[in-house]
Amino acid sequence: MKLRLAIVGAGPAGVYAADILLKHERSFDVSIDLFEQLPAPYGLVRYGVAPDHPRIKGIITALREVLDRGDIRIFGNVLYGRDITLDDLKHHYHAVIFATGAVRDASLDIPGIDLPGSYGAAEFVSWYDGHPDFPRTWPLEAESVAVVGNGNVALDVARILAKHPEDLLPTEIPANVYEGLQASPVTDVHVFGRRGPMQVKFTPLELRELGELRDVDMIVYDEDFDYDEASRRAIESNKQVLVIDRVLGQWRQREVGAASRRLHLHFYAKPLEVLGDENGVTAFRYERTEPDGEGGVRGTGEIREVPVQAVYRAIGYFGSPLPGIPFDKKHGVIPNHEGQALDKDNNIVPGVYATGWIKRGPVGLIGHTKSDAMETISHLVKDQASWWSPAEPDEDAVVRLLDERGVEYTDLEGWHRLDAHEIALGEPEGRARIKVVPRDDMVRVSRP
Ligand code: NAP
Repeated sequence: MKLRLAIVGAGPAGVYAADILLKHERSFDVSIDLFEQLPAPYGLVRYGVAPDHPRIKGIITALREVLDRGDIRIFGNVLYGRDITLDDLKHHYHAVIFATGAVRDASLDIPGIDLPGSYGAAEFVSWYDGHPDFPRTWPLEAESVAVVGNGNVALDVARILAKHPEDLLPTEIPANVYEGLQASPVTDVHVFGRRGPMQVKFTPLELRELGELRDVDMIVYDEDFDYDEASRRAIESNKQVLVIDRVLGQWRQREVGAASRRLHLHFYAKPLEVLGDENGVTAFRYERTEPDGEGGVRGTGEIREVPVQAVYRAIGYFGSPLPGIPFDKKHGVIPNHEGQALDKDNNIVPGVYATGWIKRGPVGLIGHTKSDAMETISHLVKDQASWWSPAEPDEDAVVRLLDERGVEYTDLEGWHRLDAHEIALGEPEGRARIKVVPRDDMVRVSRP
């Protein structure tokens, strides 16, 4: 018996799931095909992690080692639902695992959020990470910018906006991104968190990094540091919170005023409205909140405005529905029991599994995807009796199908070619790599 398994999504979640299944104790052989809608692998590590975070980008090395073993077949530039459907998968495989992540911005329902100049962080991240499906240019015309949210994505966005672009040059940022950032007139980036400094979601390392930006002053406001009992308890009981308190405390003592750019951290600021008109954003309006003693906040009724010409909401990612697969619209995930997809009556859907952010929502670091995959795979292995019965499980049949449909898929060798090409592009400029951005170019380089 050989399990023919399709995995949709070649980010960390999909690659870890494949790796874990291959190493898992089992009584049958396995043959895995990994489908990815982009012409290149690695998902959010390539297209979500900020370019100036080489340590996290380094996870690519581990993912690449898994793929280079050669026991997983790869079909890039193949979109599930268009190039290959659920019926196709049932015809060729015994089961499918969706590892499609969460790449859209969660919505923020306040007036003015759709004004020109108001953006989702995920879109901006996709631009600066050279995602092929986003416009090449980004309007960086604002001198003052608001970033809403207190997670690591908010800090990424604030850092990339405030950083002098020359300091990004050693990274793999695409040429159009460097040029775009160079033209930015930004002087002030304001980050707004709706709760207090001890209730943030970002992590100490990422916070500390902001204080090391060249020619950028960190501005924090004394009014935000009148801690309540819950905040004091958080500092005592949680090492990360303690470090965050220390870092912010140091910044409160720092001399400021000499830098040409400023990064402000505002806490207790609940978003109320983006002000402006069809010509763009003019201000960000928020309500000052106060601690409720339990780690939450309540409104004070005090309304404030900060003049800004752009707003970026970084309040979390959201998953996208997949054709033919149940979807929980409220949480943006495939409803599931430990990775087994569930239908609307909470019954297990045979043969359909989920792992990663599309399974548990867009929280947690990349490493967490491993334990997630283990849980999903252990069910897949035990569920043998309920797998699909494919009419054409042989490995050539699916290749014939893609060829007949004229799908220009990329494979492992193609990804190696693209990788070598990007490294060669960077060489004359002394850079580790320059990313190829347009999809057509990626496919042209990847396919012989
Ligand atoms: P996140 O960590 O969940 O943070 C979301 C932030 O948005 C929170 O501060 C949240 O406040 C706020 N928020 C949510 N709804 C809001 C609303 N309606 N109004 C105002 N604020 C609102 O999400 P993320 O930043 O997208 O990050 C996703 C995951 O990726 C996280 O696990 C993160 O650590 C990880 N990541 C890591 C790195 C890295 O460099 N290590 C980089 C990027 C992402 P509340 O807490 O009050 O809900």
